[in-house]
Order: sequence, then structure tokens, then C-alpha cells
Amino acid sequence: MTRRTKYLLDESDLPTQWYNIVPDLPEPPPPPLHPGTREPVTPADLAPLFPAALIEQEVSTDRHIDIPAEVLDVYRLWRPSPLYRAHRLEAALNTPARIYYKYEGGSPAGSHKPNTAVPQAFYNAQEGITRLTTETGAGQWGSALAFAGAVFGLDCEVWQVRASYDQKPYRRLMMETYGATVHPSPSDRTAAGRAVLADHPDSPGSLGIAISEAVEVAAADPGARYALGSVLNHVLLHQTVIGEEALRQFELAGDRPDLIIGCTGGGSNFAGLTFPFLREKLAGRGTPVIRAVEPAACPSLTRGVYAYDFGDTAGLTPLLKMHTLGHDFIPDPIHAGGLRYHGMSPLLSHIYHLGLIEAVAIGQSECFAAGVRFARTEGILPAPEPTHALAACIREALRCKETGEEKVILTALCGHAHLDLPAYGRYLAGEVVDHDLPEAAIQDALARLP
Ligand SMILES: *Cc1c(COP(=O)(O)O)cnc(C)c1O
Repeated sequence: MTRRTKYLLDESDLPTQWYNIVPDLPEPPPPPLHPGTREPVTPADLAPLFPAALIEQEVSTDRHIDIPAEVLDVYRLWRPSPLYRAHRLEAALNTPARIYYKYEGGSPAGSHKPNTAVPQAFYNAQEGITRLTTETGAGQWGSALAFAGAVFGLDCEVWQVRASYDQKPYRRLMMETYGATVHPSPSDRTAAGRAVLADHPDSPGSLGIAISEAVEVAAADPGARYALGSVLNHVLLHQTVIGEEALRQFELAGDRPDLIIGCTGGGSNFAGLTFPFLREKLAGRGTPVIRAVEPAACPSLTRGVYAYDFGDTAGLTPLLKMHTLGHDFIPDPIHAGGLRYHGMSPLLSHIYHLGLIEAVAIGQSECFAAGVRFARTEGILPAPEPTHALAACIREALRCKETGEEKVILTALCGHAHLDLPAYGRYLAGEVVDHDLPEAAIQDALARLP
């Protein structure tokens, strides 16, 4: 029998509902608080920033939410996405483990981000909004929203973290080709940006600063709203199409995962893949271990605290209870720009706090080594972010080689690296180093928690 490499679903198998994990959790997650009153935020507090449909999803306790037909039509450009069995990587590692990856790099932007950019643009357009503002770290989110804005006729304005703006000129050109306007962040166009530049004229920027800038501009324009590519409940919700498809693909494969591994920046690709499996686990169907992998340079789950903090640097957002390194913590400009966020999704933080998932932090050089190993066996060049998950997969596969265990490992290959090649260039030239993150740097930022 010839061996199967890809498990493919038909377009007619595309999930028609997103999965909301909140009603299935043993305790509800703590609510976001108004920074002034410290009372739970109301939908009216959020209305200047988000359309009503997304605010409703943000606080929904419905287990399933219908995906609008207009969104499904756009999803069909690249969904369902393939589930691969990594036969060649397994052979190279000489492991008895079976490794599967769900590949999201086939989307127009090259990552999982369009799964939420498309519905966010759709709901905004439906409510008469004409302009969206946002931030981007790696450039993947900005590209995804620029694409979705083009589809639904919205102007899209993106603050791109300075380190990324300088390292990734092609990401900017991609956004501009889709019709978006791109500013480096910190910029002199906002009070938040000017405040950072006054103290640090050479600031490499951070997602927290870029969020402050995009929020400030959206809040001042009644025709504009702000869009966030990760962290919030509705973003994680939209990403669950990944896991719903993967569940069906594992049925086709006649297999089931023992260990599910994903990288976490704000938590959305990880949640998207794992929440449907966690639903099955909580219902007593299967017992997979679920492991988040974060960069050693920005370890919010493994070295941060679980506390109320701002989602942005300037303190413009509601207070979110999350694992955080402190809202003004500026991580080293590592190449995995999508993982350079000081906090973690409040919903995922709550789930981690409940002990339903585990977390590890891995340094850059091991991750790039894993990315190169993957490229040379499976062919796809992984974005720097999912190399963190691949490094953890390889650690586990090598452990299985020692023990002889035929563990089934599933990971999210959430993006490709075609516009991240300078990072690989630096790795191949021996220039990627592991930054030591001293405990004092974390404690310093945590001392300024609100
Ligand atoms: C944005 C991004 C991430 C980090 O965001 P999450 O919300 O944690 O998924 C990871 N990988 C890629 C490819 C991204 O574009």
C-alpha cells in the first residue's frame, strides 16, 4: 500500500461554525476591566473600537457560532487546508513517533491570520465602517488585514513594528499592493508614538507600542475601527476552523494525536488548532497533552505573572487578566516578530492557569536549526514563529527514539518564511544568537503593572 502524505478535505467539508470553548470550561474566564473604574467593561466601552458583531462574539457563551456565507466564500480561496504526515522528517530523525502538521501557509497572506482578518473586515464593512487601523509585528497580520480590506472595500492603515519594517521591506510592499497604508512604529503620527520616540529615538518598536498607535487613531475617527490579529476571544474563535478541520482529517488518517504542539505569540494559531481537541478531551474523548511553545526572549507563560495588565504599551486598552511580562516590556528584536508580545490571550492564560495546557520556552538558535531541518526534509520553509513548535516536536520525537514510544504528534505549521528569508540568511551566516533574558529585566517591567 502506498503511504499517505496529505489528508485533504473537500470544499464541501469546510466547517460552517466556529467553536467557542468558553461554555465548556470548568470556570468562566475573568472579564476585562475598565482601567478607570476597574469595573468589567461594557459593550458600550468597546463600541468606538470594534463593530457590534465582534463585541457580541467577544463575550458570547454560545458553543457554536455560524460562519457567514460571505466569509465562507472567501475561506474557500485556500480552505480546507491540508494536514500532512511528516514522513521525511520522521525518517531523518529515525523516530518511531508519527508527526503530523496542519499547514496554514497556503493562505493569500501566507499564514493563519486571514482566518480572522476576513470575518473582521466583513463585520466592519457590514456595519458601515470604511477604515480599519491595526498593528503588525512579523507583517503577517498586516498583510492578512490588507487582503481582507481589499476584498470588502475598506481602507486599511497599518503600524508596522520598526524592527520588522526595517527587516521586511517585502511585507510592506505586499500590504501596499493590497492597497493598505503602512507606517513604521513608533511613528510621529500619534501621541503614543511621539512619547516613545522622545525617550528612545532608536526604539525597535514592539507590538504593544504599535497597538497604542492604531487604537489612538481609530478612537479619534468615528468612521474607523481597530482590528487586532490575536489575543482577543473573537480572534481565537475564528481560528478554530483549523482544529475542526484537523479533527476530521485525523478521522481520515485513522489516527489520533497524543501530543499537540503550537507556538504562542498572542495565542491564536495555538488556540485555533487545539481548542476543538480540548473540547473532545474535556468531554472524555481522547487524552492529548497540549503544549504551548514561546520564545525564550519573550516568555509570558513560563516567566511572566498572571495579573491584570494593559494590552498595549501606552495603557489605552482595557485591563486584561493574562500572563504578562508587563505592558512596557520590550523584548529583544528576535526574528520571530509574531511572538514578540508582552502578554498572552486572556482566554488561553485562563486555560493555562486551570492546568489544561503546558508551556515551554525555547531559544532562537534551536528553533532556526529545527526550521532548517524541516525545510530540508519536508520542503516547506517555516516562518520563524512555527519553528518554535517544530523545535519542540523534534525534542519529543528524539525522546521517542530513546524510549521507542510511537507517540502521535500534531503541530500547527502556521506560516511560511518566503518573506522572512533575511532571518534564515542570518542564521546560515552564524549570526543568530540566543539572548539571555535576566530576571531583573522582567522584574523591572513587572514593577510597573497597573
Ligand atoms: C502572528 C503569527 C503568530 C503569532 O500569533 P498567534 O496569535 O500566537 O498565533 C505565529 N505565527 C505566525 C506565522 C504568525 O503570523
